Amino acid sequence: MSLLEINNLVIDYGIIKAVKGIHIEVKPGTIVALLGANGAGKSSLIRSISGAVKVKSGEILYQGKNIANLDPHKISEMGIKQSPEGRMIFAGLTVEENLLAGAYTVKKTEIPALFEEVYGYFPVLKERRKQQASTLSGGEQQMLAIGRALMGNPEVLLLDEPSLGLAPIIVRNIFEIIKKIKERGKTILIVEQNALQTLKIADYAYILELGKIVGEGSGQVLLADEKLVNAYLGS
Ligand code: ATP
Repeated sequence: MSLLEINNLVIDYGIIKAVKGIHIEVKPGTIVALLGANGAGKSSLIRSISGAVKVKSGEILYQGKNIANLDPHKISEMGIKQSPEGRMIFAGLTVEENLLAGAYTVKKTEIPALFEEVYGYFPVLKERRKQQASTLSGGEQQMLAIGRALMGNPEVLLLDEPSLGLAPIIVRNIFEIIKKIKERGKTILIVEQNALQTLKIADYAYILELGKIVGEGSGQVLLADEKLVNAYLGS
């Protein structure tokens, strides 16, 4: 059974239709990727799941319940946490304070174990826990954004362009950690423009173009499909 299932989803911003009736399924404990060029509708889609963007029609089923257009706080409390595009960390707070801010939906007693978990994935954040977030490198800020989402102990982790603006070696490192996070039981939906790297860690991927799904399959199958890679993913 799918943890997340999206049916006939339509999102529009006035006359601009960003998502035009799509179907997506995310099975528990998998990494599912949404790929495609600029303006394909990927961010609109992932942001509708966290409640940041309203949907016009269709359903977003999470554990069988329709969460479309619910309040973002409610969705977060239900176990879906987003690490947003552009990271959106609190620059004036320390690393530790940023992480703590992500734990607002969990019980106080769970917080120490969550810090341990996040510092286990990202030891550099532990080293810098007393430092202002604004002093972190781009890669470290991305780690902090993912760590903050993990502090909410999510069932589903939504990642919007985690590789944006980062050097290739750092991207590889972050993708390895994303895979580890999955292996320890999380379900991950990731939006990316870096298609080739993403397909290497994705169990399943959807390719969007102008608000529609134009291809889907396992990461391995899509990677081997030269035509599709050339047409939509840039080789
Ligand atoms: P990118 O990688 O550039 O973020 P994307 O695939 O995530 O692209 P979206 O950001 O979802 O695509 O954009 C899909 C379409 O919706 C685009 O035509 C975009 O200009 C439009 N759009 C997105 N957000 C808004 C908004 N708040 N108001 C109006 N139009 C919007």
